Amino acid sequence: DCRLKMIKSRIRDFPDFPKKGILFRDICPILKDPGALSAVTSLFEEHVRGQFQHVDFVVGLDARGFLFGPLLAQRLGVGFVLVRKKGKLPGATVSVAYDLEYGKAEAEIQEDAVSPGHKVILIDDLLATGGTLYAACALMHQRQVEVLSCLVVVELKDLNGADRLKPHPVYSLLQY
Ligand code: 5GP
Repeated sequence: DCRLKMIKSRIRDFPDFPKKGILFRDICPILKDPGALSAVTSLFEEHVRGQFQHVDFVVGLDARGFLFGPLLAQRLGVGFVLVRKKGKLPGATVSVAYDLEYGKAEAEIQEDAVSPGHKVILIDDLLATGGTLYAACALMHQRQVEVLSCLVVVELKDLNGADRLKPHPVYSLLQY
């Protein structure tokens, strides 16, 4: 698919960011190129439409899931819900703690954002160890929401994030 080539050409590598030894994949050039951004959205849309009969919401992860999620949600004709870092959302919330490479974080949603029985698509820019998406899956379980699939633009295969997310399927556009 030539769209994948175009998207790949819009990912920049930054060695030693945010710290030494990490090769950071920067997706910002995708956002600067309307053709590439539209290709990302179309590929996700085609995948979801081909795999799932019914989707209630697209759920985006803080912060780069917020860039791709609403575009996909619009294409699918469904709403968009945010999973945020703790302390950012007003009203009653549900949260779950998770481990980062160094230290801990907490992911949070508004209690009334999703309801038991809903079927959702999770979306983020990149899958590394899977810790972030795993936390979002745990939040969804807590709310008795079914995670149909976890979508990412980039999957770092060596870190085995997809194994950690099992049995939830992962769909990535590009693998490194
Ligand atoms: P994980 O929890 O899977 O280890 O890390 C994935 C999360 O960290 C995602 O929310 C993603 O935005 C961020 N992240 C980690 N490494 C990178 C990277 O190389 N590039 C980008 N764009 N995001 C990254």
